[in-house]
Amino acid sequence: MTIYRARVLDTPEDPFQGGALRAEDDCALVVHDEIVVARGPLADVRAHDPTGLVIDLRDGWLLPGLVDTHVHFPQVRVIGALGMPLLEWLERCALPEECHLASEDYARLVAEEFCASLIAAGTTTALVFGSHFSGAVEQLFTVVDRYGLRVTSGLVVSDRGLPDPLLTTPERAHAESVALAEKWHGKGRIRYAVTPRFSFSAGEGMLQACAAAAEDIGDAWFTSHVNENPAEVAEVARLFPRAAHYVGTYDDHGLLDARSVLAHDVHATDAELEILAARGTAVAHCPSSNSALGSGLFPLARHLDHGVRVALGSDVGAGTGFSLFKEGLQAYFVQRLLADQGRPLTPAQLLHLATAAGAQALGLGDQVGDLSPGKAFDAVCVRPVRGTALDIGLRHVDTAEDALGKIFALASDADVADVWVGGRQVASGGFVRRVPE
Ligand SMILES: [Zn+2]
Repeated sequence: MTIYRARVLDTPEDPFQGGALRAEDDCALVVHDEIVVARGPLADVRAHDPTGLVIDLRDGWLLPGLVDTHVHFPQVRVIGALGMPLLEWLERCALPEECHLASEDYARLVAEEFCASLIAAGTTTALVFGSHFSGAVEQLFTVVDRYGLRVTSGLVVSDRGLPDPLLTTPERAHAESVALAEKWHGKGRIRYAVTPRFSFSAGEGMLQACAAAAEDIGDAWFTSHVNENPAEVAEVARLFPRAAHYVGTYDDHGLLDARSVLAHDVHATDAELEILAARGTAVAHCPSSNSALGSGLFPLARHLDHGVRVALGSDVGAGTGFSLFKEGLQAYFVQRLLADQGRPLTPAQLLHLATAAGAQALGLGDQVGDLSPGKAFDAVCVRPVRGTALDIGLRHVDTAEDALGKIFALASDADVADVWVGGRQVASGGFVRRVPE
């Protein structure tokens, strides 16, 4: 047993539904076998463990582990290619890099870089877009398993509209997806997600193969992209003349339910939002990607008003980094820019979007997302680099809500000092703890 004594901020009650930020200046968390078994003043929780080790983290701010609901494993090395809209960026930047993952040696290096980057940003749970190559996905799962990260991912499948090395057939896509899921789905904290890249690059036969794979796996997850960019939306409408809209291309194949997460949805129609709400499908809002590619301003208020669940995604590598703090800040900016159409976001709502909302979108709300007893100890200690504006600001805050606002405005990966997944520390003092093979 270990007792962590810290200033703790989390959002067990949804701030979009009237819940308040839970902030405790001096809170003790007793962690046993991965799980927070007690929480309260140190003197009270001492009863669980009168002589146990107390780790004092009160020089930082302890938050739940961050949850990224949309991030691309093969794109670590292409972050920061600015100045292009989606389809040009894919053609010139992302897809050529993704072709390199045909090499398993290359994929293993990228998988190491990817997992270390997640941890450095404080991300402990993620829905990850895999690679088009089965061997590369195998490498990803192997490294994820070593670090114990809570990752849901799968083989990305496409049969048109992409460079030839990234294409496959429906038969092969089905066989490789099911084989990967048989080996990895449910192993440790890994789960399998059936993953057509987007309807733009996956025809009717491929989407049918995805539905068959999901059925064969049984309780697989599903993820893809939707309504990101007007040129993409128009092309999907041309490719699927019988579908009512972009969301319909997935829904017509039975791919949408509460185990589905679609990224972006910047250009959603009301009819699409009604379907997403009815299916329980969540949307991964990726604001820095939307801004970097000029995709548009995300209609958060319309999603929430329709009852569609929304969480945050970094969308690396169109997104400009792994930090969910940056995504929260960018989400806040976008809603400000939407003026009357926007939903003003509070610091507590930003934390909720970056933690509990993501956990719930991924069906993990009973395991992670806040630091209540019974939850896994997935946590991040933000301890600013000394002398920085964040350090100065946090030393002079009046309220916990102010502190959280400063963290979202100013924190970067450099301020993420310590990270735990399932009670195991995977970063300390700002350094990722390498787990040897
Ligand atoms: Zn994406």
